[in-house]
Amino acid sequence: MDPISLKPFNSFHVEAYTSRLVHVHHEEELPGVLTAIADDPYLILGGGSNMLFVNNFPGWIVRMAIPGIQIEEDNEDFAIVSAGAGVVWHDLVQFALQHDLGGLENLSLIPGTVGAAPIQNIGAYGVEVADVFHRLRGYDCRDRQFHFFDKEGCHFGYRDSIFKRKLRTDFFITKVWFKLSKAPHALKLNYGSLNEALAKEGITHPTIRQVSEMVGKVRVSKLPDPSQIGNAGSFFKNPELPREAAVELLAHHPNLPNWPMPSGQIKVSAAWMIEQAGWKGKVVGNTGTYQHHALVLVNHGNATGNEIWEHAQRIIGSVEHQFGVRLEPEVNVIR
Ligand SMILES: Cc1cc2nc3c(=O)[nH]c(=O)nc-3n(C[C@H](O)[C@H](O)[C@H](O)COP(=O)(O)OP(=O)(O)OC[C@H]3O[C@@H](n4cnc5c(N)ncnc54)[C@H](O)[C@@H]3O)c2cc1C
Repeated sequence: MDPISLKPFNSFHVEAYTSRLVHVHHEEELPGVLTAIADDPYLILGGGSNMLFVNNFPGWIVRMAIPGIQIEEDNEDFAIVSAGAGVVWHDLVQFALQHDLGGLENLSLIPGTVGAAPIQNIGAYGVEVADVFHRLRGYDCRDRQFHFFDKEGCHFGYRDSIFKRKLRTDFFITKVWFKLSKAPHALKLNYGSLNEALAKEGITHPTIRQVSEMVGKVRVSKLPDPSQIGNAGSFFKNPELPREAAVELLAHHPNLPNWPMPSGQIKVSAAWMIEQAGWKGKVVGNTGTYQHHALVLVNHGNATGNEIWEHAQRIIGSVEHQFGVRLEPEVNVIR
């Protein structure tokens, strides 16, 4: 069997090969796909915008391509909208804007698919998918049954959910339902850079479209476009530290941006520590750290997955040495 290149299927644009690639367009195809896979290794793929292939993948890549966006319920206050796992996330955002439905505007232009959005509870500019999530359906390859999950069942956290933990690799998300608002006062505008951008344009009472446009402008100014420079957005998560550890760290580094979490832990800025450790904008061979955003690792053209992973490890080591904090990848590293 000829090897299949995964370069077109990952936003880092690194070369990696697999022997089998299957595209799933209907959820009813999944039981048959799982039977064909039998005991071989497999990996669920959406848009590949949160993945780093360090090696070739020795098995099946199952690419979720289920289409379709629908308004399922509509009343005076809100609408329930469903979308297939393969729908491009920003297409769903645009659908919501076209129908005057609020809640997704702060999440404009996040790359990837609807099916992957609950996996790491995607978030940006003060909003997370959990804020608008209603329920999802998917196929569990352990009992070979379809199951629904409501919001509580998903155990959403910061860039986290049950699908990254207990159900990692076992559960294929096929469809997601969102509860979107018709109330204009439901806008979330208190995130620093979004707030500043709106104020700069003199917009005091923005529409959801204006919020989406502004988020787009801020994103374009800070993040590299994967079609030009290979990347997977933020490579690392912001570490969440126990209160005592954070207080001690902040005593030594009072300028370190930090945010108290509902859990009592304190989240500290990974970008700040990476920048202080001298990595922002640094080019190392074919890889490096983006000049406008210290959390974003980039492929300057011909980097291999392994080169990017080695760069990530150098950053992890140097931040740990300087701050005593171990960074964890947000990106799914496939080794
Ligand atoms: C330029 C750039 C900016 C970004 N900005 C943000 C941001 O602001 N906020 C943010 O949260 N993320 C951001 N990301 C990361 C990325 O967009 C999200 O993680 C996105 O949800 C990944 O979607 P995907 O379809 O590409 O998933 P993939 O990368 O294909 O997969 C990600 C994970 O989800 C699993 N998976 C995918 N689809 C399914 C499914 N249907 N069922 C079960 N498991 C599945 C995969 O196995 C893998 O573990 C950014 C990425 C880039 C490149």
